[in-house]
Amino acid sequence: MTDPLAAAFRELFGAAPEGVWAAPGRVNLIGEYTDFNDGFVLPLALPRTAVAAVSRRTDGLLRLHSADVPGGVVELRADELAPGGRKDWAGYPAGVVWALRDAGHPVTGLDLHLESTVPTGAGLSSSAALEVVTAVACNDLFELGLKPWQLARLCQRAENVFVGVPVGIMDQTAAACCTAGHALHLDTRDLAQRQVPLDLAAEGLRLLVVDTRVQHELGDGAYAQRREGCEEGARALGVHALRDVVPEHLDEALAHLHDPTVRRYVRHVVTENARVQQVIGLLDAGDTRSIGPVLTAGHASLRDDFEVSCAELDLVVEAANAAGALGARMTGGGFGGSAIVLVTEAEADAVAAAVTEAFAAAGLRAPRIFPAVPSAGARRLA
Ligand code: ADP
Ligand code: MG
Repeated sequence: MTDPLAAAFRELFGAAPEGVWAAPGRVNLIGEYTDFNDGFVLPLALPRTAVAAVSRRTDGLLRLHSADVPGGVVELRADELAPGGRKDWAGYPAGVVWALRDAGHPVTGLDLHLESTVPTGAGLSSSAALEVVTAVACNDLFELGLKPWQLARLCQRAENVFVGVPVGIMDQTAAACCTAGHALHLDTRDLAQRQVPLDLAAEGLRLLVVDTRVQHELGDGAYAQRREGCEEGARALGVHALRDVVPEHLDEALAHLHDPTVRRYVRHVVTENARVQQVIGLLDAGDTRSIGPVLTAGHASLRDDFEVSCAELDLVVEAANAAGALGARMTGGGFGGSAIVLVTEAEADAVAAAVTEAFAAAGLRAPRIFPAVPSAGARRLA
């Protein structure tokens, strides 16, 4: 992909790029809707990446092009960038340049051409891949000396403030900091990280991503409502964030809460944080198989307590488990997007076929199924 990308860059901008960078999409193994509760997450990077050919400019101009979006080069002036100014795809890379400049870093202009194999809007975080690939390219080209976690913070700020989407810190950190053969344990309170070995092949296992190819539009309301519900729960319990409610005190905490919806949200967040710790314990013990039921329990919690699943995601989990998967869950924001399925290598094809058949029987478009091999985070390719 690198050479045709560089050739396309030359076609567009009249000279070879100074370098080529990649940043991956991700799936979250466990720890869903915990990141705005100061909780734990455990994402892994996918082999699918956004790849960008980039050169510096010194005249303040940003020239941005995506091979995946119709339309030509988008031209912007770096010193005119302002939050809310761009709602299209160019808002992501432009937002990163804005966030870097706003933090005092001298990014004086860019030519950027990108292409991505991360499906968009599938819950696999194509947006963070796009942001982080822009950030690592800027970091190298302008010799900013920022660490991957710092780049992730700036990318989150780009998405929150410039693009205007209230995402947590998981996606950008995964794209910037994941390493091959590992899942990334991230504490979203203090951003402490640990690479947790996830050697699926050694145990004869496979993790499948099932992209349902549906996305139900529930508006931003559903996300905001859950965020507010969690904040209300934390206030009622007198804690800074729901992360501070330990599983041992869950029953006591639930007895304090009067609103049944808030009670369910709290139960999801507290049990989900516990599931992250449980999965990490099993991975550290080299018992990856046993995480299967924990994944399925996480799905039930997202479906019944947090109410962010949908019929198609539930169908993936049911069909996969009925066909012999070790466990499965929705991953990402829900209401469509993708699920993950843990399966033995021997059963992988049969389980994938069973899910595809279940979709056909339900009159749904065939899902896209591919293995999630724990891959490297953002890096320079050339
Ligand atoms: P997700 O991050 O789950 O894939 P988002 O809605 O957060 O979904 O981000 C998708 C958006 O990111 C797209 O609508 C587009 O604006 C931008 N994007 C992602 N990949 C590309 C790409 N290859 N080229 C241009 N824009 C992209
Ligand atoms: Mg996104």
